[in-house]
This record gives sequence, structure tokens and C-alpha cells, in this order.
Amino acid sequence: MKVVKKGKGKTPWAGKKVACQGCDSKIQLEENDKLNLVGDQRDGDYYEFNCPECGNNITVAAQLFGNSLVE
Ligand SMILES: [Zn+2]
Repeated sequence: MKVVKKGKGKTPWAGKKVACQGCDSKIQLEENDKLNLVGDQRDGDYYEFNCPECGNNITVAAQLFGNSLVE
């Protein structure tokens, strides 16, 4: 078999931009970044990671990675 159209892979955040609430940095996520997927049945699954500038804990709703977050 062969893949005729590549899927998004396992890193839906690659290339997405996220704003840090703590220091107002804008962070562009890369394919090899490690984000922690947290399951939340009530409010919806989200990803969390620490801001590389200030260490602030940033959370992003998993469903938002379908669109660009900033701009
Ligand atoms: Zn920050």
C-alpha cells in the first residue's frame, strides 16, 4: 500500500502559534516539541506546556489546533 496524501501526523500543533498569558510572548510550536495532552471530560481535552521565556504553564484546548491560534 502507499500513502497518497499525508495526514497530519501525531503533532497537530506543529506550526501553530500560541500566546503566553504570563509574559505576552508569542510562541510558535514545532513538530518535535513535547506537549502534554490532558484529558478533561467536562471542559474538553487540552494540551499543556511551559513557556520557554517565563515558565508559565500554558494550556490550549485540543480542538483549537484545527486553526491558527494567534493572528
Ligand atoms: Zn511566558
